[in-house]
Amino acid sequence: MDEFSLIKQYFAVKNSNPTDDSVKLGIGDDSAIIKPGSGEELLFTTDTLINAVHFPGQTAARAIGYKSLAVNLSDIAAMAGTARWFTLALSLPEPDHNWLKEFADGLFELANMFDVQLVGGDTTRGPLSITISVIGTVTENMGIRRSTAKVGDRVFITGEPGLAKLGLSTVKNEIELPEKEKKRCVEKLNYPQPRLKEGAFLRDYASSMIDVSDGLSADLAHIVEASDCSAVLLSQVLAEFIPESLGIDEKNALDAVLYGGDDYELLFTVPADKCEEMKRAWPASLSNLSCIGAITAGEGVYLQERTGESRKLTAAGYNHFHG
Ligand code: ADP
Ligand code: MG
Repeated sequence: MDEFSLIKQYFAVKNSNPTDDSVKLGIGDDSAIIKPGSGEELLFTTDTLINAVHFPGQTAARAIGYKSLAVNLSDIAAMAGTARWFTLALSLPEPDHNWLKEFADGLFELANMFDVQLVGGDTTRGPLSITISVIGTVTENMGIRRSTAKVGDRVFITGEPGLAKLGLSTVKNEIELPEKEKKRCVEKLNYPQPRLKEGAFLRDYASSMIDVSDGLSADLAHIVEASDCSAVLLSQVLAEFIPESLGIDEKNALDAVLYGGDDYELLFTVPADKCEEMKRAWPASLSNLSCIGAITAGEGVYLQERTGESRKLTAAGYNHFHG
């Protein structure tokens, strides 16, 4: 099978949204032609996933397809944007039909869920690697940044941080979990839910926002650094993200929540006087929502224990160039 029939068979016809006429020219020419609406700003983001670095070697192709797009959609969500179009640069050792079918199924399952259209890409032979770029839109001046948290704001997170890390640990046979819990954690690892709806809802409330990819502590450190402030997290609240049924002791549970990567939850700040209104308005159909701390003056991220004592956290999130 040559490159062109591969593109045609697996990628060229799988999704299009008849109500969206923004794509004037999609896959098939030298470049796509897209017409954004007036009053919209564009958001660009790219992420690469490399075999055995970003996913364990035995990961199912469907999960790889799904997750490659999910991690990019998460970056658009973190700006409170709408994901619209994407490109796919795929490097493959060989054109394995079963693998490609599963990969495309996972990819388009998520693309269709959020109405984001594949408009181009590149296909090459080489070690398995997937680079996706997503373009999103946001109403002019409405994108939410990392740099705008204020002292007194409360810190919130969506969903259940820490479970994906425990999923990774079970896949690598580092820990053993009860079967049901194992399934849930591996599902979180392989099929992260991009929080696009949550991000869009937060346009009216969040003062700053980031998505958690490297770990809660490391990503909150990015917010406080960019915003020139400090944050205090409550250990009691964080420990609750890991259900007792997993049989993980509190220290390891806290480590997973604080330092485990791959959560793809939204971490954001809300002015104190808007919190009650936000919580009331938060639609039940969205993810869980938890207040985990507050923004204070100073620098760095602190963890406050049950006893009231605080300690400064090291930024021990995932970092490709540190040991
Ligand atoms: P060019 O050589 O002009 O860059 P290519 O031969 O690489 O174009 O690709 C042909 C067409 O197929 C282009 O429109 C490109 O965007 C699209 N394409 C290539 N690979 C993929 C892919 N993996 N997914 C989606 N579209 C792709
Ligand atoms: Mg060309």
